[in-house]
Amino acid sequence: MPSDVIGAFTEFDIVKTAEMARGLQPEARYLFVVGGSSEFDRWWLAKARADLAAFSKDYETTYLEDLTIDEFVKRAAEFPRDSIVIALTIFKDSAGRNFIPREAIRQISRTASAPIYGPYPTYVDYGVVGGNVVTFESLGMTVADLALDALAGKPISNLESPQTYIADARQLQRWGLPEKNLPPGTVQMFREPTFWEQYWFAVVAALAVITTQGIVITGLLIERRRRRKAEIESRRRLLEVVHLNQSATAGALSASIAHELNQPLGAIRSNAEAAAIILRSERPDLKLIEQILIDIQDDDQRAGDIISRMRGLLKKRSEIDWQEFDLNEVTTSAILILHGEAERKGVVVSSNRPPRALPVRADKIHVQQVILNLATNAMDAMLEMVATERRLVLETTLTRESQVELSISDTGRGIPDEQLASVFEPFYTTKPTGTGLGLSIARAIIETYGGKIWADNRPEGGAVFRVVLPLARSG
Ligand code: ADP
Repeated sequence: MPSDVIGAFTEFDIVKTAEMARGLQPEARYLFVVGGSSEFDRWWLAKARADLAAFSKDYETTYLEDLTIDEFVKRAAEFPRDSIVIALTIFKDSAGRNFIPREAIRQISRTASAPIYGPYPTYVDYGVVGGNVVTFESLGMTVADLALDALAGKPISNLESPQTYIADARQLQRWGLPEKNLPPGTVQMFREPTFWEQYWFAVVAALAVITTQGIVITGLLIERRRRRKAEIESRRRLLEVVHLNQSATAGALSASIAHELNQPLGAIRSNAEAAAIILRSERPDLKLIEQILIDIQDDDQRAGDIISRMRGLLKKRSEIDWQEFDLNEVTTSAILILHGEAERKGVVVSSNRPPRALPVRADKIHVQQVILNLATNAMDAMLEMVATERRLVLETTLTRESQVELSISDTGRGIPDEQLASVFEPFYTTKPTGTGLGLSIARAIIETYGGKIWADNRPEGGAVFRVVLPLARSG
């Protein structure tokens, strides 16, 4: 170069390319250096021989030169797998054919059975793994900087373009060479972003949604278990409370029930005495005695019924006995239980019912207990009225399509309007010996079976309590 030429220089350090190959293939045992037959090719081969003298000592080294392109291709297919192949330039083969070197390299790399490295960036995408190179971009930048400095009148001197390691990610994959063994700072080309790099946002978002969903579902499951437990506990308590309520009712009714029981028992005794007298006569009237015995049987049956109703009232249960029954039937049996008490208190009990059955699904004894609570309250409320005006009416109807209603109305003093809701509160009572639990238990029972209960005052005086329950499906 004339002495007044200043420029940017490229240094081709073939040893650095070889070191890169060693890093990627630490187990390699063979080294092949490929070069063409042009003057420049031969210069390169000679320089590589000198530069790689130390490096090649660790390998069984072969310089492939003075070959035709076909011979290169053929030899390339025979490289042992544990070989490092360094391609220099092939501007011309031994048969005198001219090449753009990278075109020749492409042909060789197609059949090559070991990875090929090279000192030029233009070899990438032509089947080469990579190498230590000066990119034409960086060379151009260096020259341009020099020119700019010169134009700006700054002092300038020769510069070397920076070297970089480059690698073709597809070739790394082709030969199974791990990315982590590349020299630090290697620029990877044709690298497909990993699944994570491409979709990390969607993955994170999906995981976040799944995790949130998981937390919510777990929370709901825990909540559901707690609710189930609470429901079981509340049922158990309800059963206990209803049983206490039943016992209290039985206690309250015991005087009238005992009185009621006296009637058939008294009749049995009188009939037995009459039969004894008849039998003592000379010609006992056997027809009459037969009739007396039939009466005794009937009275015994009546007494038995009274006792079994009382027993039913006192029966303790550990589970709700769900069954389908006719609400009319339970109303009738409640009236029979109350019959004696009503008589004692001078209350006239009557009932209105539709001709059809009103099936509901619940525990029969529980619904009967509701009726007993409402009816005994009604009778209590009428105590202060004139005896001729004490009337208790139990009425059952089918309201709308799928509900049955039971109303219990009395001719008592009624309930102050502002107390209509609070009478259902536990411990609300206006009676000196009251517990204030009857109505709250009645409400708990009815709500357990999906129904509703509320109180009203009748326009003509007295209170009316209404209970609605869902009609059982078969009805
Ligand atoms: P208790 O009968 O022990 O007082 P309840 O819960 O059965 O408890 O009733 C609560 C209160 O509601 C009664 O004390 C009474 O004041 C009122 N009550 C209930 N039924 C009637 C009714 N038919 N007429 C007027 N008041 C009533």
